[in-house]
Amino acid sequence: MADLLIIGGGVSGLSAGIYAQKSGHSAVICEKLPTPGGNLTGWRRGEYWIDNCIHWLTGTNTSSPLYELWEDLGALGDNIPIYRPESLYTCEYEGQTLSLFRNWNRVECDLLELSPADKREIRRLSRAVRFLQDAFGIGGPRKNRGLNVASVLSGSLPILRAYRMTTGDLARRFHHPLIRSFLTSFLSDQISALALLSVMAHFCSGNADLPVGGSLPMAQRMAGHFRDLGGELLLNKEAVGIDLEDGRAVGVRFADGTKARADEIILTIDPAVAFPNLLGMPMTKAFAKQYYSPRLSRFSAYHCAFACDRAALPFRGDYVWELPPALAFRLGSKSILLREFSHDLTAAPAGRTVLQVMLPCGEDAARRSIDLRNDPFAYRRKKREIATLVLEVLLQKFPVLEGRIYCLDIWTPATYRRFTGAEIGSFMSFLFGAGRLPALVDGRVPGIENLRFACQWQRAPGGLPIAAESGKAAAFAIAKKYRSAEREQEKERSPRRIPAR
Ligand SMILES: Cc1cc2nc3c(=O)[nH]c(=O)nc-3n(C[C@H](O)[C@H](O)[C@H](O)COP(=O)(O)OP(=O)(O)OC[C@H]3O[C@@H](n4cnc5c(N)ncnc54)[C@H](O)[C@@H]3O)c2cc1C
Repeated sequence: MADLLIIGGGVSGLSAGIYAQKSGHSAVICEKLPTPGGNLTGWRRGEYWIDNCIHWLTGTNTSSPLYELWEDLGALGDNIPIYRPESLYTCEYEGQTLSLFRNWNRVECDLLELSPADKREIRRLSRAVRFLQDAFGIGGPRKNRGLNVASVLSGSLPILRAYRMTTGDLARRFHHPLIRSFLTSFLSDQISALALLSVMAHFCSGNADLPVGGSLPMAQRMAGHFRDLGGELLLNKEAVGIDLEDGRAVGVRFADGTKARADEIILTIDPAVAFPNLLGMPMTKAFAKQYYSPRLSRFSAYHCAFACDRAALPFRGDYVWELPPALAFRLGSKSILLREFSHDLTAAPAGRTVLQVMLPCGEDAARRSIDLRNDPFAYRRKKREIATLVLEVLLQKFPVLEGRIYCLDIWTPATYRRFTGAEIGSFMSFLFGAGRLPALVDGRVPGIENLRFACQWQRAPGGLPIAAESGKAAAFAIAKKYRSAEREQEKERSPRRIPAR
């Protein structure tokens, strides 16, 4: 049995800890914050609850392989109801709207009705989404049986096309501006079209919904499961350095002045911070290749949360539109994504709800936000400016909100940097562009025999499933290492057989 020390109590760390305990090892998770979950979190502002993570949780279809993983981790299960919204998002362009409903036939009909001139491209898009639903177990095993040679051929060609394109390239093939915006504004116009089609396929297969209760309760269920399995979770425990000796990590130093030893160490935090700050060495080539790849990019976001009259809500679910260039420049974001929480009656007092606004920003803007925080006055002013401008934009778009909405909170890339420690405050890993399938980076660190990474940074685009899978993979790799070491010892101990004459 090995003693594992896991740095970071987000989804990667909790998953590593749970699978380590299940494999018969003993795990301690050290988390610098007072709550487990990392980015999978939420917080209270007065009478309102701000849920700041799950927009969609891949693996909510009970027959998908990912569902089993979430069940294993105590995150989902028979007793956890799933909220299945009617649409994942609604895109608006000059007063017209288009929604990604959960029934793809309905989406296809809406697209055809909106723009008959785009019929050919709409049919191609539909073939690709349906093929993804059927081919990769997204819709559950029952669906896979429907595949035949003809459907594989007709479905895989549009997939191959999408693989070679960004969402921006895909959008340019359509005539209708609303369809173009529908394809680019929700994620980005720079990412692989395949990534967007995959999100569509998951949602339309009931495999990208929300656990009732939201983000922090899901993290707490995982932490509870880890403890029930005998694991130890230390909160307010920040690692500040790792001592290395003769190719081994021999100890971890903490901000509270204590030290700990372990047989194996798992790092779940951003490698761009962990290598220089904890290990005192440059990133491994494998990680550096991801961070410096021209085809991968990082992003973060500014967010505002508003308290709002439920009855005044002018839309349901997520609502997105592209900002005119002057406004995009002032807000540092090409599009604005709104999300309302009327489905969660516990998030606000009766008759009220929370309306959140997300303004995604690129790496440079994220770094500027982090630098600005060194000047608290300027940083606060910037936050106020953004909140005021966002409110103006909301009132201009939805005059019905006048006098029925006020700002609860605003958070920025610098907030993420401060809380989760990610270098540029990114909460997913990398966005990947055209012509690239995300590769898995080996979490081992050459030259340090008993230390490895298990984190969302090992594969683009990151997110909850990748975090959970990376933790599981690291725990299994350690279990395998110890099993083969035991077998070797066993062989050495057992007397050699003398061959019979
Ligand atoms: C607004 C928002 C929306 C999102 N939407 C979705 C979504 O819809 N679907 C989806 O799949 N994903 C979504 N994500 C992404 C998802 O939350 C992350 O991919 C995932 O939580 C990453 O988990 P992690 O454990 O790898 O990293 P983190 O969550 O960053 O956890 C790392 C942990 O390590 C701790 N830590 C850092 N440094 C130290 C140290 N020195 N010592 C000890 N502890 C340390 C941090 O405090 C943190 O708790 C969203 C995230 C956000 C913020």
